[in-house]
Amino acid sequence: MQVRVKKPLTVDEYAKQGMEMLKYYESGPWPSHVTELKKTKYPIEAYAAGLAAGKTMWAAGSAKIRYVYTGFIARRTRDGKISELHFRVWQPSGYLYSTEKLRKLMDFADKYGLGLLEIAGQQGLMIISIRPEVADEAVDYLRNVVGTDIGATGDTIRELAACVGPALCEFALYDTLEARDRFMTHPKIYEWMSNQLFPFKFKAKFSGCPFDCTRAVHRADFGFIGVWVGAPEVDQELLRKKIEAGEVDPARLAANCPSGAITWDPEKKELKIDGTRCKKSMHCIRAAYPAIKPGKERKIAVVVGGHVKGRFGGKMGKPLAVVNSVEEAMDWVVKTVESWTEYMEKGVVKHKDRIGDFIMKVGFKKYVTEILGLKEEKKPTLHPSLRAGAVLDDEERTMWANWASKLVEEYFGRRP
Ligand code: SF4
Repeated sequence: MQVRVKKPLTVDEYAKQGMEMLKYYESGPWPSHVTELKKTKYPIEAYAAGLAAGKTMWAAGSAKIRYVYTGFIARRTRDGKISELHFRVWQPSGYLYSTEKLRKLMDFADKYGLGLLEIAGQQGLMIISIRPEVADEAVDYLRNVVGTDIGATGDTIRELAACVGPALCEFALYDTLEARDRFMTHPKIYEWMSNQLFPFKFKAKFSGCPFDCTRAVHRADFGFIGVWVGAPEVDQELLRKKIEAGEVDPARLAANCPSGAITWDPEKKELKIDGTRCKKSMHCIRAAYPAIKPGKERKIAVVVGGHVKGRFGGKMGKPLAVVNSVEEAMDWVVKTVESWTEYMEKGVVKHKDRIGDFIMKVGFKKYVTEILGLKEEKKPTLHPSLRAGAVLDDEERTMWANWASKLVEEYFGRRP
């Protein structure tokens, strides 16, 4: 029997086929990325060829830029015909741009790139496809004319995300924008930002309230989340009006509280929240705002070790303490990063171990008491998603903690 081997198409043939496929993405009433890409100098045929071939036409490249050690991603097409650099650029806190600043960035993208920006990413604004031969000049222009800098790729401090905070949001419990600026200009952070010295990337995120729009719990090595002390404030009069209008069901409100802190007295028509049990879940606030609001005494919960990518899989950040300002926690940030790199030199931390992996290896207790030098955890009372195990009773918590320690020991041996 004769076996027929299908001959692969040439890149040009794939591109032709792909261009036909792209027509589909331009049909329909919705905005089309293909239409937008076609308006720029983006090599749309490279995208089309990749689509038809079932794999991207882009492969990793490399480049050198004068006095720049982080902040660009080099790519080339698989056929070697096109090389390009994507610049990651530091954003203003809260991603709030003036139109003037955006115009400067657009001019920059036209002058040195393809006229294409990507601004919605977690990792900073990206200016797509800078030509390698103009990269040195482009960095100078970015610093001197646009007024920002390239940064945040590789094993270093990555883009620091702050939610829009008090600039736009009624729930903000602290000034996330100011906190991010201060964090960024801390002498140590500033020094680390432009060098690749760490075992892996480091991210810090600033969320104004436990809704956690920056996903600080899940995605930050250090997360700073606005919280309040005790119970939320209840405006009984307004709440009664909302109940009468059918907007709020008090029984449901009580049943949905993850820590069982809410009781409803149908006789007195009064809702009580036990501040000692409240885990700052925001359930009641979301359902009955503004009749129920965050309490007046505001603090910042510090969570540590959250990440999606890491050597040993994703982790939720662990609550470390409740502080009055981000500055209070800066010493812990510095100690953590310094120990993380020291343990890399000792061979305990390996390349691609995030802070969460490092804490898992040394143990949380040793991390808190010996590395940070804290006498004891301030034990913040937080939402279960901030504090894994918070809804368990003591016996259950101990059971799961023992199980987890055994697993860690089996996997890594005894902790150093
Ligand atoms: S995290 Fe809270 S304060 Fe920040 S934008 Fe979201 S809801 Fe508003």
